[in-house]
Amino acid sequence: MVKVTIDRENCTSCGSCWDLCPEFFEENPADHFSQIIEDCRTGGNPAEGEVPEDAEACVRDAAEACPVTVITVGE
Ligand code: SF4
Repeated sequence: MVKVTIDRENCTSCGSCWDLCPEFFEENPADHFSQIIEDCRTGGNPAEGEVPEDAEACVRDAAEACPVTVITVGE
């Protein structure tokens, strides 16, 4: 499964990732940075997760759209 990390501290809360891919990303209600939805997190970490196959394309689109390139998509 494809792994993803978000460098949350450098997120600018632009909203692109959760607009493009709400199946995987969401806005943290407290700090307003991007986080991974609960079901996809690794070890409960909101900054690290694994992408379900059907969300892979939109996760990659979101990573490309991130203006500060803080979303890393692994293999
Ligand atoms: S696209 Fe990047 S900067 Fe924008 S909310 Fe998502 S992680 Fe943050």
